[in-house]
Amino acid sequence: MSPAGSDSNPLRVAVVGSGPAGFYAADALLKAAGVVAEVDLYERLPTPFGLVRYGVAPDHQKIKSVTRAFEKIASHPRFRLRGNVHVGRDVTVAELCEHYHQLVVTIGSASDRKLGVPGEDLGGSHAATSFVNWYNALPEAAGERFDLSHERAIVVGVGNVAMDVARVLLRSVSELGQSDIADHTLALLRESRVREVVVLGRRGAEHAAFDQSEIQDIAELDGVAVDVDGDEIAAALAAAPDADSATRRKLEYLQGLAAAPRKPAERRLVLRFLSSPTALHGDGRVREVEIERNQRQGTSARGTGERTRLAAGLVLRSIGYRGVELPGLPFDAASGTVPNREGRVVDAEGALVPRCYVAGWIKRGPSGVIGTNKSDASATVQRLLEDVPALPDAPRAGGVALDALLAERGLRVTSFSDWKRLDAIEVERGAARGKVRDKLCSVPEMLALLGAAG
Ligand code: NAP
Repeated sequence: MSPAGSDSNPLRVAVVGSGPAGFYAADALLKAAGVVAEVDLYERLPTPFGLVRYGVAPDHQKIKSVTRAFEKIASHPRFRLRGNVHVGRDVTVAELCEHYHQLVVTIGSASDRKLGVPGEDLGGSHAATSFVNWYNALPEAAGERFDLSHERAIVVGVGNVAMDVARVLLRSVSELGQSDIADHTLALLRESRVREVVVLGRRGAEHAAFDQSEIQDIAELDGVAVDVDGDEIAAALAAAPDADSATRRKLEYLQGLAAAPRKPAERRLVLRFLSSPTALHGDGRVREVEIERNQRQGTSARGTGERTRLAAGLVLRSIGYRGVELPGLPFDAASGTVPNREGRVVDAEGALVPRCYVAGWIKRGPSGVIGTNKSDASATVQRLLEDVPALPDAPRAGGVALDALLAERGLRVTSFSDWKRLDAIEVERGAARGKVRDKLCSVPEMLALLGAAG
């Protein structure tokens, strides 16, 4: 019998999750020298691209244009998208392992982290990731409700996601209306009374995780000013004499903002560093946030005990994404990732789980930009390819053999051409209304538009 990876016994790999890590893993497999690989990319929704479609902000269309590279990967004759299949629910990891030589899990980090302070579960307090899902028209987030009737919103955390949500709250509706923002969000933003977004960083400004370009984007918005305390930035510069050049430039940029004459503005972003929320207060809904002043302690910070209260009607905690367990695979609840050695999945005792691999955020945690997943996925695929010679020679049937089972389970598996039809509908509907695209956000509607398979 021919070995796996040959013309007559192609290496059949299931990749689970069609975000950047999934597409980059597929690309690395299809381009691998000396190996004939067939890739089935499983996605729980009929729409591919994961975080590029549902994470990247609607007013960052340039970043979303990476989907053109993914389309090129999808055009490979040995690539197939198998959409509308939720692995772990519609089909098990064990069933995939039975039908494929190897499995690469790239499901990202679908959940969020909690602050662990009293009042966090009051109405009006949400994970920033829920807000992101909602404005990006993720189907299951369409029913979320956000209260924009108060003048002030508070965002906890100073990463790029914090900047995204702050910018969407502050940017003019006419600008956002041209993007692919969800209609339900646009309707609420039209009525929004939010005039001030206060962003809280627990450490000093030298540790702010956002990129300079992200704060610059906000400072350059029409009708929006950024308030930041010049003394705090001076202290940050003094506290971090060895900061890398990007951090120094960012601090100098913030110093420039602090020194500039106060810009008359309809809406403001207020950056407050060395500030931690210690409790959320309200009567069922959040009304005030108690904030403790911190002081630097090495590269960390500790509370001073000095507390103030700030009124707000919306609190978004933007303190990081968190991975979710995929039934059938080991999971490390502490880090929210699948335990692995260089992408090879291992169990709690450190023993290899044969033929299972991970890439992207579920492998290393929620960090880096889209491009980071390219090298990460490629490194995982290298390990996977090293393991191919040890695979048994028996061919694996691949996804086609699963079709009958999935049909029996009532699933309409969607293909990349199905997605292209949905894509065309979204773009056409958007063009009629002056938008980049008008996103479909109901899976039943998508499936009805597609009709029966084939
Ligand atoms: P992030 O960059 O890790 O930022 C998380 C922020 O939350 C940090 O400021 C962190 O502060 C803070 N934080 C964590 N736990 C906290 C707590 N208990 N209390 C208060 N603050 C807390 O995460 P992210 O903003 O979710 O972004 C995820 C990744 O996506 C990042 O790599 C980001 O660059 C990327 N991204 C990129 C773009 C873009 O390129 N335009 C847009 C969005 C996201 P400490 O530093 O003190 O822990």
